[in-house]
Amino acid sequence: MKQTKQFKTESQRLLHLMTHSIYTHHEIFLRELISNASDAIDKRHFKSLTDEKVPNADYEIRLINDDKARTLTIVDTGIGLTQEELVENLGTIAKSGTKAFQESLEEKSEAELIGQFGVGFYSAFMVAEKVEVKTRSPYAETGYLWTSDGVSNYTIEDIEKETIGTEITLYIREDAEDIDFSKFLKFYEIKSLVKKYSDYIRYPIKMLETRTEDKKEIQEDVTLNQMTPIWKRSKNDVKEEELQEFYKHQFNEFEAPLKTIHTNVEGMLTYTALLFIPKKPAYNFYTESFEKGLQLYSKSVFIEDKNKSLIPDYFKFVKGLVDSADLSLNLSREMLQHDRQLKKIASHLEKKIKSELESMLADERDKYLEFYEAYKLTLKYGIYEMFGMNKDKLQDLILFETSKSESPITLKEYLDRKPESQKFIYYATGKSKQRMLNLPQMDAMKSQDIEVLLCYDDVDEFMFQAMQNYQEIPFKSIQQGDLEEVLEDKKKEVKKQEKDYKEFLKAIKNSLKDQVKDVKVSARLTESPVCIVSGEGVSLEMEKVLNQMPNGESVKAERILEVNPNHDLFKKLHETFVSDDQTIDSIASLLYYQSLVAEGIPLENPKAYTDAITTLLSK
Ligand code: ADP
Repeated sequence: MKQTKQFKTESQRLLHLMTHSIYTHHEIFLRELISNASDAIDKRHFKSLTDEKVPNADYEIRLINDDKARTLTIVDTGIGLTQEELVENLGTIAKSGTKAFQESLEEKSEAELIGQFGVGFYSAFMVAEKVEVKTRSPYAETGYLWTSDGVSNYTIEDIEKETIGTEITLYIREDAEDIDFSKFLKFYEIKSLVKKYSDYIRYPIKMLETRTEDKKEIQEDVTLNQMTPIWKRSKNDVKEEELQEFYKHQFNEFEAPLKTIHTNVEGMLTYTALLFIPKKPAYNFYTESFEKGLQLYSKSVFIEDKNKSLIPDYFKFVKGLVDSADLSLNLSREMLQHDRQLKKIASHLEKKIKSELESMLADERDKYLEFYEAYKLTLKYGIYEMFGMNKDKLQDLILFETSKSESPITLKEYLDRKPESQKFIYYATGKSKQRMLNLPQMDAMKSQDIEVLLCYDDVDEFMFQAMQNYQEIPFKSIQQGDLEEVLEDKKKEVKKQEKDYKEFLKAIKNSLKDQVKDVKVSARLTESPVCIVSGEGVSLEMEKVLNQMPNGESVKAERILEVNPNHDLFKKLHETFVSDDQTIDSIASLLYYQSLVAEGIPLENPKAYTDAITTLLSK
């Protein structure tokens, strides 16, 4: 029975894009189809080990070109497709992240789309006016023929097909004005495309070569690909371009990787790992839907797509694969019995990644900065999580801009240049550099020439809390607690001022009630009249972050208003108070709101602030 079905809407859009493609690299269709064939053979091979329904076979991919009929056929001995799978996989975009794809359709260029999403099977319609898929799955009673011209419909009908696997026949388009489609029917062109894109495919890609010798036509069956997986070839042998091509295709990436790590380990544990750090985080990298993991192979045979245990969360940006002969394939895919080996490999890889990042940081700073910009949050969360358990592994990989340095520095660099007598690592938190540099609390640090780390990310302060210290030097916020140690020589003056202004300070505190815990003379201010600081524990920045969390409890930092009696504004307000104590509410509000504004804390009642200014200015 022949059924006609409609492509899903998003598929139709992609197909339209394919059939009207102005993309210059039509040739990638072959790579896509060969890769699908190879995946299907992987699946069959793997299944055959555990499921007696699935027989073994000679695994190969065969390309058949027919110049006269203008067809190119790709035959594989893979797992084939059932009817449901045909509908499910060829009728819709099977790619993970269909939604992301749809969104990208709107905003991305064709080249970006094709590169990023790898378009897969549908790329056949870039070169073919009609595609036929004959397939037989070991799980189906019969074979099926799927046919489409890539417009809106496809048909499926039962056919007889003995052998398990798939044959995809492309009816190659007539040459267009500027595109030579006929070349995809020529042996040499096909051979060179296989070399270019699919050389590493682990199954033989075979084709008949027809030559004329002594006026006689002879045909010879040749294998087009080298077959050794790229990671099994000696490092010196593999060209950077080949690695990049492999990476893009294997991991659906558009751009070359930022860093490639190719490592071969022999001994108690034998494995090869080929790891990549993508230039940019995946579109869903910072969401729950992102899945970390490395591909796992045993003796070059594919086992698992995303093995999570091979990579820790804080390096989850690493893509790649591990191939180990120590993992035997014959038992369950769950591979519980391999836990120990996997753990060991994981621990090696972690060290390797860390040391590669450290050398990048040491020798290729600019590249490291690019890496760091993309993934710093992952590293920082890595330190913060598990109560700082992984601090030692990660703390030398994080960087900070500082009050003295444009380009970010490491904690070690900070310690190396701080004076011996400085007992803390000082930091400020805020949304922008300018804001932090202008914090009233920065005055004292500037005057004492102390370098301050500038922290933009919400996680920073939580991370410091988890770390507690770096090389035994504790972290300290300049916006929190007192800074006694910095301000030793000011103590006397502060004590005296506290006495002198006792009444005034008390009146301010009474007027502000519970909004602040205390009103104090500041030792840290020189140029600003007021600032707000928090007590020990929750800081003002943490208060903001915690209160943004969904279902978070409402948290309040302890607020302490610090005033600067040496400032003209303070002196003026004091005089005003002395001559008329009815003004105290306006004075207190003015000082308090001013301190909040300087800190970037939104005012709950901005009108009270402007009223206070108005009242005092009209005096
Ligand atoms: P992708 O391969 O990236 O998932 P494709 O559009 O290329 O996307 O293929 C969609 C799905 O169709 C595949 O995931 C696979 O399940 C199935 N498929 C494609 N080609 C074959 C084939 N030669 N043999 C078996 N299944 C196939």
